[in-house]
Amino acid sequence: MALLRGLLVVATATLLAACATNPVTGDRQLALVSEGQEIEIGRQVAAGAEQQMGLVDDEALQAYVQRLGMQLAQASERPDLPWRFRVADDPTPNAFAAPGGFIYITRGMLALLRNEAELVSILGHEIGHVTARHSVAMMSRAQLAQLGLGIGSIISPTVAQFGDLAAGGLQLLFLRYGRDAERQADDLGYRYALEQGYDVRQMTNVFAALQQSAQLAGQSPVPSWFATHPYPEERIARIEKQLTTLPTVVEPRRIGEDTYLARIDGLAYGDDPRKGYFEANRFLHPELAFRLDFPRDWRTQNFAQAVVAGSPREDALIQLMLVPGTLQEAAERFFRQEGLTAGRVRSQSVNGLSAIIGAFQAQTEQTQLGGVATFISLEGRTYRILAYSPVAQFAGYERTFRAVGTSFARLTDAKALARQPQRIAIVRVPRAMTVAAFNSAYPSAIPIEQLALINQMAGPEAIMPARFQAKRVVGE
Ligand SMILES: [Zn+2]
Repeated sequence: MALLRGLLVVATATLLAACATNPVTGDRQLALVSEGQEIEIGRQVAAGAEQQMGLVDDEALQAYVQRLGMQLAQASERPDLPWRFRVADDPTPNAFAAPGGFIYITRGMLALLRNEAELVSILGHEIGHVTARHSVAMMSRAQLAQLGLGIGSIISPTVAQFGDLAAGGLQLLFLRYGRDAERQADDLGYRYALEQGYDVRQMTNVFAALQQSAQLAGQSPVPSWFATHPYPEERIARIEKQLTTLPTVVEPRRIGEDTYLARIDGLAYGDDPRKGYFEANRFLHPELAFRLDFPRDWRTQNFAQAVVAGSPREDALIQLMLVPGTLQEAAERFFRQEGLTAGRVRSQSVNGLSAIIGAFQAQTEQTQLGGVATFISLEGRTYRILAYSPVAQFAGYERTFRAVGTSFARLTDAKALARQPQRIAIVRVPRAMTVAAFNSAYPSAIPIEQLALINQMAGPEAIMPARFQAKRVVGE
């Protein structure tokens, strides 16, 4: 929400701004955002996105993706942006660009790819969105809409923390750009990859794999690249047409299969249970060793920064997060803030842990909220469980809110504490074999359709050639 306010300030300040030249097309276009502002907004969006999704904890892999991205970006129309390429710790296959040159690819996307040329084609596409200033164009429109409707202006800073966590940074990243912008990004990405000597024929594999993966998609707060990048058939056809214009005799082009597969050997696959997982309505966090029971039938999401649950009628929200300070400090800071009226606040023990629990009311521009805030201390960390609804509904929810707060407990189950993510392992197959035969010889912890998918094989009966470097998934 701080981000939203930042955007509004920028938009207001620049409403008078006029035309700028698009770096890619050379066209003059209405630009509400200068390059300096574009970079500043991008930095904020990137910081928010990194906090919410987290980055994969593998410096060698991060440096590798940064190096590949920089090769392309430095040869683009906007070499001097503060380009940043990172692998986001999310299992859903996606990639996205924030304005100003902040580009993210998920580990879920890396799991689907087989070589560097494919990776570069995706980075090139996202670079294209930045060099052609697509996000800036979209942002300007979004800002105008906000200004026009008066949405987003908030009376009290108190209310900033009542915003939907999914809003803000992530939503700006998951904009759908429209068909023309996607075509342009495809064309730019194609050109950037070609200029660096990559085998651009690999691009079509990516689309095919994404199309296949859409059917196997799991639940995640992050939409897949397939969802934010529609019309795959049309795009494959376009790339194939461009490929026919390549000279028939070409020098060997860069594919980079060995390097790429070595980099992703050992990469986490699927949801990472160490960062928290659900068993029905119970949330368990092995790394931080706690558990919490959300109400049945509520919609839950586990973000890097918080766990959020929404009521089936979408009129109540519960949010669990770590907050700075001791139990007393955190509770005092919360209940004494401006714009918030605290009810009875008291200290008590919750499953053997020190806690402070209190009801409150807070005024937002749209509505008066009623809620319960529970603060709990465990292993020197302070947790806050914030549950609220419009004040008219609060009476109906209060028992539920208090029950969730007091369900917080130390996680002691040894099996839950030891949970580890599944990981990709690379195996060179000794002889030609079907995916099914490979799965018998080297069992994987995932369904066979998914195994075929990450190996870019059509299905269980497709044949892996001799010496093929296959991915398998090991772990529970
Ligand atoms: Zn795109």
